[in-house]
Amino acid sequence: MRRAEALIGGTWHEEQDGTRFTVHDPATGAALAEVADCGAELTRLAVDAAAAALPSWRAMAAHERAELMRRAAAELTERAGLIGEIMTAEQGKPLAESTAEVRAGAEHLLWAAEETRRLYGSTVPGAGADHRVWLLPEPVGVVAGITPWNFPVSMITRKLGPALAAGCTVVLKPAEQTPLSAVAVAEAFTAAGLPPGVFNLVPTSRPALFAETVMADPRVRKVSFTGSTEVGRELIRRSAQDVKRMSVELGGHAPVLVFPDADPVAAAAAVARAKFLNAGQACTSPNRVFVHRDVAAPFTAALVERAEAITPGVDMGPLIDAAALAKVERHVEDALAGGATALTGGHRLDRPGAFYPPTVLAGVRDNMLVCREETFGPVAPIIEFDDVDGVVARANATPYGLTAYLWTADLNRTLRVAEELEFGMVAVNGGPLAPPQAPFGGIKNSGYGREGGSLGVADYLDYKYLSVGLGR
Ligand code: NAP
Repeated sequence: MRRAEALIGGTWHEEQDGTRFTVHDPATGAALAEVADCGAELTRLAVDAAAAALPSWRAMAAHERAELMRRAAAELTERAGLIGEIMTAEQGKPLAESTAEVRAGAEHLLWAAEETRRLYGSTVPGAGADHRVWLLPEPVGVVAGITPWNFPVSMITRKLGPALAAGCTVVLKPAEQTPLSAVAVAEAFTAAGLPPGVFNLVPTSRPALFAETVMADPRVRKVSFTGSTEVGRELIRRSAQDVKRMSVELGGHAPVLVFPDADPVAAAAAVARAKFLNAGQACTSPNRVFVHRDVAAPFTAALVERAEAITPGVDMGPLIDAAALAKVERHVEDALAGGATALTGGHRLDRPGAFYPPTVLAGVRDNMLVCREETFGPVAPIIEFDDVDGVVARANATPYGLTAYLWTADLNRTLRVAEELEFGMVAVNGGPLAPPQAPFGGIKNSGYGREGGSLGVADYLDYKYLSVGLGR
């Protein structure tokens, strides 16, 4: 069994009283590691370190910051296999998905490293012949990050990349279920030669205490959170006290709209990929699959075929824990009790670990739990529709606004429907959602702020306005 510690100011720390928490393998329930369970004192120490490192990090020449970030990306890529194994052990996803995530996480760092050299300000026409207006980009300062367990590496690098590029220093709390992947990321940064205190990692099983400590500290100028809407809301409330900048990437309830002119088989293949990736534990996972009646039969047959080709335990991992499994069961039972049919799957597997099979539900109605709450499991609910004009309103009828998927061969419909959909991201006929150059993020209860692209870096910048009068 491994031991893991907090990284603060470039050195590894135990909690002073030796308190630790245990990390488990969700496929077997076996204990994997004991991790330092940081309290308020270590969190404050981490903020001290980040605050001390800030002046020299923000003042460092952009190309030097970029070079250190490139080295960290190279370290991550070199260690992708090893970190992938750690991620698979504590999170459960198949090794191919884990290593792909580490490589994608490194790409986010690389993209942000390049952006470091393009932190442009601007010159704006002044108010008169003797007036000049300049905008100067400046880092917001010390940033606290809080990340979830579903993508334990890329969720971290999507915050670290833009924060470090902007010249901020970071104190990050990883998810309780997946701190070992985070420790492996911190080791890669240390090996890359990142100056002490620029990136501090504070594992804990007491997330509210971490939040309370960073929110109360005036040196922390921004909090970047990815996780549930419920916790995000609470953090926004707390941030008001010290008027901190916030980025909140929260839950989703993605609709898929398959119109009669779409290729139903291609659409089903893409829905299967998006739905069963990470056992459905993604904020972008399709939650309501609206399929036009004319293409419902070939779409459904292709989706069932794809679902049945997946072997749990080989191509798809377990859910993160017993509570996640219980939630999926509750959603499916509610749908079946309300008249839906399980075309494949539909019940937990008779084996140890939190495994639930790929499931396709037909005959789903908008008022069922699967259509109202985020299932966060491998369940694809199919809702047939006739009314082409009315389906967009049904897709929008959710408090969430992260991702929507649209399948059609009609350009007019593509533009009209994409504009009407109330979501931060609309994927038309496939296409990746989270490449490093694209601004990932939501609206409504899915949060605000963007990760990726130049907008992602801008989230970690203040633009100082310089008003200059020219004396004569
Ligand atoms: P969660 O319970 O909100 O946990 C996320 C993070 O917040 C974890 O690090 C957690 O720590 C921490 N946390 C929990 N309670 C807290 C508190 N009172 N104060 C401060 N931090 C607290 O979310 P989850 O259920 O693990 O993660 C899945 C959710 O994240 C889903 O809703 C999913 O849609 C969303 N998500 C959104 C995006 C996006 O980009 N929009 C991406 C991925 C996931 P512990 O681990 O110690 O509980």
